[in-house]
Amino acid sequence: MLVFEISREGRRSFFLPESEVPTHTLSQTRQDELKLPQLSEREVIQHYTNLTKKIFSVDAGFYPLGSCTMKYNPKINEDVAGLTGFSDIHPLQPAETVKGALKAFDELSDRLAEVTGMDAITLQPAAGAQGEFSSLLMIKAFLKDNGGGHKTEIIVPDSAHGTNPASAVMAGFDVVTVPSDERGLVDVNKLKELVTDKTAAIMLTNPNTLGLFEVDILEISKIMKSVGALMYCDGANMNAIMGINRPGDVGFDVIHLNLHKTFSTPHGGGGPGCGAVGVKSHLEPYLPTPVVRNGEILTNRPSSIGPMKNFYGHFGVFIRALTYTISLGGNGLKEVSQNAVLNANYLYHLMKDKYPLAKDTPFMHEFVASMANLKKETGVTALDISKGLIENNIHPPTMYFPIIVPEALMVEPTETESIDTLHHVADVFNSLVDTAHSDSQALKDAPSNTVVKRVDEVKAARNPILVHND
Ligand SMILES: *Cc1c(COP(=O)(O)O)cnc(C)c1O
Repeated sequence: MLVFEISREGRRSFFLPESEVPTHTLSQTRQDELKLPQLSEREVIQHYTNLTKKIFSVDAGFYPLGSCTMKYNPKINEDVAGLTGFSDIHPLQPAETVKGALKAFDELSDRLAEVTGMDAITLQPAAGAQGEFSSLLMIKAFLKDNGGGHKTEIIVPDSAHGTNPASAVMAGFDVVTVPSDERGLVDVNKLKELVTDKTAAIMLTNPNTLGLFEVDILEISKIMKSVGALMYCDGANMNAIMGINRPGDVGFDVIHLNLHKTFSTPHGGGGPGCGAVGVKSHLEPYLPTPVVRNGEILTNRPSSIGPMKNFYGHFGVFIRALTYTISLGGNGLKEVSQNAVLNANYLYHLMKDKYPLAKDTPFMHEFVASMANLKKETGVTALDISKGLIENNIHPPTMYFPIIVPEALMVEPTETESIDTLHHVADVFNSLVDTAHSDSQALKDAPSNTVVKRVDEVKAARNPILVHND
């Protein structure tokens, strides 16, 4: 039911007092009447409260969406971000009136620089993908200023997140794909063949999207540096290595972080995020403007790639991340990663007989199972298993990604789940494989207890209904 469908002419949630000043008609007015729903306050509240009951959320249940780090976000982050000194300020306010906010930039930047091993941070990019794009523009500008203007190629592993090649193309580079080897890691011998004088950089996710640590990282770094190419780290999986491994210490020149994943801002559904970027000092002059440092707003930055986003980025996300890092402290962040890895390995241990790994390699904070055999034996696919999970109030894992794994299910439990939850979800996962063998049709029909039942995927793709018709 749409809010417009329960609208009734004349109903109101509020009543304005009679105006005490003369009315003015604006010169530019609408030609036709603005059609807004008309409801009482009670109807508005009821409508939206009921809508919240129809969706799945990280606060409502287990959400093992691999590579997305859907962890529980402590509510103290919200409380602090909501303080009026942070939430009621305006980006055009004079700097001397928002000193506390500017200090928060420095405090968070210092902490992120410490965690990543980088020299300088920008908080401006709104998402991971925009952090990638900003980083590649900085790499391009740096190379141009340092005799590398002819370098046009970015190397991207075949397991990379789709945003990596997309960002490279948007930044004007050509993408060269390096395959994974049988370990699921970058094939170093193939990499050596692909690297040339035209190579500008490699974009590497570490741990990669199979949840595997790139153990040859030092050698890869040496190979790249031998042709004057830079090392870019997609740090969206930082949740596995905080306080344990610093990308800046193993050869990376630049990294993006997803504050809305690792640093505890609620995400999903496209809300505001932050793809903070950390750089080594040689890339620092290229950071997007304005740069906020030592309580000052710096705009005169001749080498900068320019603004990537209006004003300073999503300030509320910074405050959540700052609160999160302060409340945990350095050791706490390390424990986050240790527990994230422990939880993933523990859960896998409970499921391993029925959910075989795509690559039999020790993994970190997430694991990728392949349901290819189950499909062969029963016809039940990774998608059907996911629908069965929905029926059991569990959010599906990431499916069919990375694309190099057939029938992939990528499971990331995160550190915020208890041992009881892990046992419960393992029982559900395992029972679904039993169901696949005993009654595969039940999984083909799932979910049957949800607001929206099984959708016809083919019809949805061929004949999508994108608007609601009265
Ligand atoms: C989520 C993710 C991204 C993109 O981040 P967005 O904020 O969604 O743009 C990039 N790389 C990896 C590995 C990711 O998991």
